[in-house]
Amino acid sequence: MTKRSIRGALRSIVTSTTTCALLLACGAFVGADILESRRTLERDLTMLASVIASNSAASLMFGDSESGSIILSALRAKPSVVSACIYSRAGTAFAVYPHRPGNRGRPPSRAPRPGMRFTARDIEITQRIVFDGETIGTLFIASDMSDVVATMKRYMMAAGAILLGSLLVALAVSSRLQRILTDPILHLARVADRVRHGKDYSLRATVAGKSSPNEIALLTSAFDDMIAEIQQRDDELQRRRGDLEEQVERRTTELRVANVDLVGARDEAQRIADLNERLSLHKKTILDTAAEGLFELDENGVATFINRSAASMLGYSVEELSGRTLHDIIHPDDVRSLPVTACKVCSARLGASLRSGSAFSFVSRGGTTFPVEFTTSTMPGEGTPGVVVTFRDITERLAIERMKDEFVSTVSHELRTPLTSIRGALGLLRSGLVGNISERATRMLDIAVTNTDRLVRLINDILDLERISSGGVELHRKWTTATELMAAAVDVVQAEADRSGVSISRQDDHTALWVDSDRVVQTLTNLLGNAVKFSPSGSMVRVSGQMKGNGFTFSVSDTGRGIPAEKLESIFERFKQVDASDSRDKGGSGLGLAICRSIVTAHGGRIWAESREGDGATFSFTIPMKNVISAT
Ligand code: ADP
Repeated sequence: MTKRSIRGALRSIVTSTTTCALLLACGAFVGADILESRRTLERDLTMLASVIASNSAASLMFGDSESGSIILSALRAKPSVVSACIYSRAGTAFAVYPHRPGNRGRPPSRAPRPGMRFTARDIEITQRIVFDGETIGTLFIASDMSDVVATMKRYMMAAGAILLGSLLVALAVSSRLQRILTDPILHLARVADRVRHGKDYSLRATVAGKSSPNEIALLTSAFDDMIAEIQQRDDELQRRRGDLEEQVERRTTELRVANVDLVGARDEAQRIADLNERLSLHKKTILDTAAEGLFELDENGVATFINRSAASMLGYSVEELSGRTLHDIIHPDDVRSLPVTACKVCSARLGASLRSGSAFSFVSRGGTTFPVEFTTSTMPGEGTPGVVVTFRDITERLAIERMKDEFVSTVSHELRTPLTSIRGALGLLRSGLVGNISERATRMLDIAVTNTDRLVRLINDILDLERISSGGVELHRKWTTATELMAAAVDVVQAEADRSGVSISRQDDHTALWVDSDRVVQTLTNLLGNAVKFSPSGSMVRVSGQMKGNGFTFSVSDTGRGIPAEKLESIFERFKQVDASDSRDKGGSGLGLAICRSIVTAHGGRIWAESREGDGATFSFTIPMKNVISAT
């Protein structure tokens, strides 16, 4: 189709151009010839008219129409003349030359005006006949133009033949020449078609060795460049598509793996959730089965959790107390009348993060009051404020403590008093004031006195400890200096130290302390006594005091056998000794350090021991800063 259209177009261009050119050329040629023939005819006719006019002047002068007709008859020599007429001065016909029959070319009855006129087939000339400068008549000659028409026909035929011949030649030449143009274009079109259908961008339209630097060659080369570029882009596209497919495949694999991981993670999350659920159930069970009452309150005192023990101690079910403001339920009237925020048990905002108390009572459902010991912890962190309260019913414990107190007082009165009189009696006997006793009896009395002393000390220690730790002993504080306290303690143990060959070094410090001096001296005495007791003869025990950190610290150190690391804490418990033989060999009951701790704790301080076994021991205790006025 492409082929036919471009070739057809070229052919019609050539044909129409050639035809137009030839038509124009022939037309111009024929037109020029016709014009020339007409001009010749005009000239000839004018000359003929002039000759006949001058010849006919005499005939007119003399009114001889016959000679006039003779003169006109000379026109026979000119076959193209169809009619002629000589008119008189008056314009009437004088002599007529009717050469041809019929009306054609018949001269007008009256003389026309001078001049030349053309009709469809004829040419007419009218000329004045002048004699001696005066118009004496008029001559009219009509000649047909058949010659001219014949010539024109001939020319036309010749022109037609030339036109036809030229057209044929032009067609033949053009169809030969058009190949030069159309072949590369058609080749280009074919290549383009193949590229379009086959998507084969390696094809090229340039034929090797045939390229010539014309516009078609340029077009072909541009087409090739374009195809090359398309091929390059196609290659790039293919490469990118390959990359993309690879990426998609990789991502798909990753996604599949991630999916597997996700499923694994989901299973793991489920497992953890199950575990958490089991754990929280377990925790709930633990909390529920705990003997202690436990409840959690939000900042408004509303119970967000309560365990079974707490509910049952208060005489309710867990459900009955959950979500209720416990402050309005569990306290006696005097505490209940306070706002929740001021309640030592329920407030989430009151004072320290850990509060406790043992002189408190809760009210159970029936309105019965029971004593409790509680601990309130406020929620840690910045989150929603709230408290966790644990409490226990201490009714029984208080009863036991009462019994113990009674027992202690019994011991105090029923055991210590007679023991004191026994000790007195033994002392009297031993002194010999009530009579002489044998040496053997003296030895026995010595043993009895020593053991009675020991027993008295033990009972005193027990009573002391009970009184101090139950808060039964009030501290009688007064201002004193560290030096005074240390000196008093050294005085007590000096005699024993001398006996053991141990020297005591005291480092004075005049810091003022607000303490119960008897109790602090008792503590220092106990520590110094132990230090002397466990120091080898000839060694030195040091007692000192100084401001340290947030308080005043007393220290007693020796160079004795020391204390094993694992016992550094336990020796402060009742009846605990490093070695069971200590009580036998060194005397003592194992209650001294327990008493010391009670005294120090009652002062708000702390006591501890440091030692490297075999390398002596150092006992230290603190008096809090609020009870200290530095000497400097
Ligand atoms: P005790 O009346 O037996 O001395 P303490 O409570 O004062 O009771 O001491 C408890 C135990 O701690 C002692 O029996 C002893 O084993 C050990 N202990 C105390 N002080 C020292 C010390 N300075 N060096 C070595 N051991 C000591």
